[in-house]
Amino acid sequence: MNMDKIVSLAKRRGFAYPGSEIYGGFANSYTYGPYGVELKKNIKDLWWKTFVQDRPDVVGIDGDIILHPKTWKASGHLDNFNDQMVDCKKCKTRVRADELIEEQCKIECEGLSNEDVKKLMQENNVTCPKCGAVDWTDVRQFNLMFSTQMAKTGEDDTAYLRPETAQAIFLEFKNIVNTMRVKLPFGIAQIGKAFRNEITPGNFIFRRLEFEQMEIEYFIFEDSWEKLFDQWLRDMKSWCELIGLKKVHEREHAKEKLSHYSKRTVDLEFDFPFGRKELYGLAYRTDFDLGQHETHSKKELRIHDEASGKKILPHVLEPTWGVDRTVLALLCDAYDEEKVEDGERVVLHLAPIIAPVKVAVMPLMKKDGMGEKAQEIFDLVKVFGNCELDDGGSIGKRYRRQDEIGTPVCVTVDYDTMGKSVETRHGVSLQDTVTIRDRDTMKQERVKIGELVEKLRKSFFDK
Ligand code: ATP
Repeated sequence: MNMDKIVSLAKRRGFAYPGSEIYGGFANSYTYGPYGVELKKNIKDLWWKTFVQDRPDVVGIDGDIILHPKTWKASGHLDNFNDQMVDCKKCKTRVRADELIEEQCKIECEGLSNEDVKKLMQENNVTCPKCGAVDWTDVRQFNLMFSTQMAKTGEDDTAYLRPETAQAIFLEFKNIVNTMRVKLPFGIAQIGKAFRNEITPGNFIFRRLEFEQMEIEYFIFEDSWEKLFDQWLRDMKSWCELIGLKKVHEREHAKEKLSHYSKRTVDLEFDFPFGRKELYGLAYRTDFDLGQHETHSKKELRIHDEASGKKILPHVLEPTWGVDRTVLALLCDAYDEEKVEDGERVVLHLAPIIAPVKVAVMPLMKKDGMGEKAQEIFDLVKVFGNCELDDGGSIGKRYRRQDEIGTPVCVTVDYDTMGKSVETRHGVSLQDTVTIRDRDTMKQERVKIGELVEKLRKSFFDK
């Protein structure tokens, strides 16, 4: 399976289109189409239900994309959220130096200075991926935050689009404590867009300039971090199982490569067609963030600890999930090409819980009351979520189309349903029955309309 097939399916079947296509496209911009947006919504809704609504210890917020610029000074993003960039002097291609060295020499560069990275490039004769030259500028730091100008007057009118959703959570920490009767340990969750001026975006929706994150800051007592870290890792892996993601691996970051404020980081990586890469991350960030915001805002962020009678600054665990990478991993994991009687079919084996279309209802033809009957059945099955009334083309072609979208089950209305056929099963009329067809096994079964919803619930949606 390669990326081209995924990208082509995504476009052909309305999951994601290249952005601004009528203007010749725009680097690494994509528009989620009707099925992509349903898939994304299902992921976010299920995540919110799993980690916010179903847990008594987590509450949600929805903060702004443009926060007070001091936020980014305090968080360290203004000074440190940089990638190391070099330009090829010959063809002017701009690349991330660390990525290039890792690709060509299999050497990890995390934490190395600009000079050390340049030395590595020289020693290993690192070539330009575009023109093959070995003629590089010096390595420079490039800040990944998008800046923008505010209309309001002030000394400095530069503001930033948030590069992560997490910081709004720290800014609201005191408001949540004061208004929500939360007690340690507790979490604050947020889903939203983040923006990064990536030097080398790519691999379809894997590395984008704007993307969505689902993040939780989980505030804890310092001495409980190890136990709770393991618990969060388990919860994150259970999430992968829930949405049907296989091929997920843990990667422990080496102690010496951790940022100064992180005591432990584990990534959950996925085997994408272009290699094993980060899907989600879990980090123990100590009391760094609250401490920084306390210093920079000069507002006390400590809370009263009943047990010790003292004021304490909570420590933080940060589990983080990328929505776009989840979509991509799901498409890659679910994609299959299978030999069938009349050739080959492409199918997405998506878990019913996140599939963009739950049930497709297909009248054999629109005439002779079948169209109206299909509408009645559509109204019954829509309890399962987004369903489709699919009435164009041959039934075989319609099944193939639904297979490619990942619809778990199709329901067909035919002349038997209408009582207009002499067909019987064991002498019993087939009137008011429909055919259900399972996407994965392609097996078909005749079911009474009166029992349809229960049958679908048991066989597909309650599993
Ligand atoms: P990478 O090393 O791949 O650049 P990161 O370590 O910078 O990722 P985090 O800062 O931990 O990523 O961001 C949290 C999550 O946000 C990631 O696990 C990923 O799912 C998602 N993410 C980060 N950058 C991008 C991007 N440019 N496009 C799409 N998703 C992203």
